[in-house]
Amino acid sequence: MINLEEENKELGRRYRALLRVSKTVDNKEDKARIRKAFDVAIEAHKDMRRKSGEPYVYHPIEVARIAAEEIGLGTTSIVCALLHDTVEDTDITLDDVERLFGKKERMIIDGLTKISEVVDYSVSMQAENFRKILLTLSDDVRVILIKLADRLHNMRTLDSMRRDKQLKIASETIFLYAPLAHRLGLYALKTELEDLSLKYTDPEVYEEITSKLQKSKAVRTRFVNQFTLPIKRELEAQGLKFSVKARTKSVYSIYNKIKTKHVSFEEIYDVFAIRIILETEPEREKAVCWNTYSIVTDFYQPNPDRLRDWVSTPKGNGYESLHTTVMSPGGKWVEVQIRTKRMDDIAEKGYAAHWKYKEGAQESSFDAWINKIRELLENPDLNAVDLIDDFKLNLFSEEIFVFTPNGEIRSLPKGASALDFAFEIHTEVGSHCMGAKVNHKLVPLSTELTSGDQVEIITSKKQKPNESWLDYVTTGKARTKIKSALREDKRVLAKEGKVSFEKWLRKHKITNKEENIKRLLSFFSQPSPFELYYQFEIGKLKLNRIKELQIEKGRILGKASDAKPKEDLKDLLSKTNTKEEMLVIGESMDHFDYKLSPCCNPIPGDEVFGFITIKDGIKIHKTNCPNAVQLMSNFAYRIVKARWTSHQKIAFLAGLKITGIDEVGLVNNVTKLISNELNVNMRSISFESNDGVFDGIIMVYVHDTKHLKELKTKLRQIDGVINVSRIDN
Ligand code: MN
Repeated sequence: MINLEEENKELGRRYRALLRVSKTVDNKEDKARIRKAFDVAIEAHKDMRRKSGEPYVYHPIEVARIAAEEIGLGTTSIVCALLHDTVEDTDITLDDVERLFGKKERMIIDGLTKISEVVDYSVSMQAENFRKILLTLSDDVRVILIKLADRLHNMRTLDSMRRDKQLKIASETIFLYAPLAHRLGLYALKTELEDLSLKYTDPEVYEEITSKLQKSKAVRTRFVNQFTLPIKRELEAQGLKFSVKARTKSVYSIYNKIKTKHVSFEEIYDVFAIRIILETEPEREKAVCWNTYSIVTDFYQPNPDRLRDWVSTPKGNGYESLHTTVMSPGGKWVEVQIRTKRMDDIAEKGYAAHWKYKEGAQESSFDAWINKIRELLENPDLNAVDLIDDFKLNLFSEEIFVFTPNGEIRSLPKGASALDFAFEIHTEVGSHCMGAKVNHKLVPLSTELTSGDQVEIITSKKQKPNESWLDYVTTGKARTKIKSALREDKRVLAKEGKVSFEKWLRKHKITNKEENIKRLLSFFSQPSPFELYYQFEIGKLKLNRIKELQIEKGRILGKASDAKPKEDLKDLLSKTNTKEEMLVIGESMDHFDYKLSPCCNPIPGDEVFGFITIKDGIKIHKTNCPNAVQLMSNFAYRIVKARWTSHQKIAFLAGLKITGIDEVGLVNNVTKLISNELNVNMRSISFESNDGVFDGIIMVYVHDTKHLKELKTKLRQIDGVINVSRIDN
């Protein structure tokens, strides 16, 4: 039952709550503007409800609250957040917005409407959309910040959506929005987006880590209290104002560690950072941070390799903090982060917080970042998927600082080579780079740079980019420039290739018309005429295979030995996608060519989906496959829903990783259990033992997830076995 009176009261409560958290709103005029936007939104959305049954307007109100409270945005953004869905979903027009509020509001809402058109409603080509989103960055970064608030609220309320929608939205979030939030310096928001994504893409693992974190909480708290006690006493004795926070790893980062480093939860759950936040006048910030460092290291021995000073040189996204890792009495390394209140605000709320502290802000480095992105975007040659890869390279890497011969400082991502540096200086310098002098010593252009290096580039007019250069560079800028130079070379060759290819056609009495070219493309497995001409010119086509073709009066009829042709991609797509059909694996699927993907080895009982490949039919992946996010967010239109038929007698390959204490006869016990007791077939087994600890990988054939679970339980019962977990391959 909908209780309108109660809903009206609730709206009043939400309005007051919004004003309470809008710290930057302090005058009557601003309050009146927010009230007006609030009323306009209520009126516009009055007949709409969310999937959960709530009034729709709760959503924009909540987005406005996130924008104000969690990102720290001001009146204009709050107004726009309240109105963000009106132009798209209701009768309100952009002209109305401009008339009622102003030009700036119109522009921001226009940007938001365009983003949601490209992101939310198109099913494919996420990479292209990404380019569009980034382009709006240069207009007004508030568009992105409000969009992030919108996405966060959608993620928080994802429960009421359909399962396939949940997967699509969660994949996009991890692929696109979380990295974006990270780069904008919104750490709290990024972490929550990542955790929520995991909750929907891999609910089982998410639950497992969450409950383990909960169970181990008391132990952690006790440790933190003991560890910080002497530090707190000394800070107080020196009359400093401060607060101390202990930051555990997020669920997602624990998951990531387990996955990439192959460690168990128990090995990393207690890795956390202690953060000391100091209150001080702006001019004493640096001194107070280093003074605190000195107090911390009076009590605990620091690891000299793990000192990070982002107070003297802030990171490119504005992050400032002093990090050290010290040895605790229990023999465990603990990271201590030392920063002021201002630095902490910037770290948590990112770009928006810079406005609050304008004097001390490092806005120039943010601008430099935006400019770099722009350079990438403005290259018309750049393919959108490449763009994402190149862009992500820059997103995830840490920075190093190096110097030009006359002492100018340049920032580059960690792992950058001398060649990257050359392209950073100028495209011409990069394109003709022969080698470099690092700290006055001659080195090859592939040399990796480290912070503090002074680099001089040696060029030659004769030098030009070649394919292998792509192996030495990590920056998006260098990759883009090298690729476009290579493409230019290729273009010339393809042009020459076209002429000689046409000559070749005449020689074989094949008419030069589209139908024939198409057949030759598929015959030689080439994606486009351009590629065909290029491959022809460089002599990579097996031309004598022409004998296999049937040619009559200038027309290619097909392959002489052609059997029943396989359905092509288009037919598959129309058969599977249009009717929302479910692919049932194991049933008579004679007309579908499907395979279980070796990257995640799905078995019956796993949640799966089908992916239509270009040459290899349909591949079945687990929804938590490491490649799933990439596939779903880039090629959503090629995804087919799939499920297993029940009762199969077929066996599927699955991998298990076993760790334990190396005891005599243990390997024997494991193999005996597998082959005798459970009647499971084993394909391979490998064990490795190190200082009394062993790691084993076994590949077994099982019927489904239930069967595998039984096997895991039995294995865990063997003396000496500590952990058994499934691995993807
Ligand atoms: Mn929305």
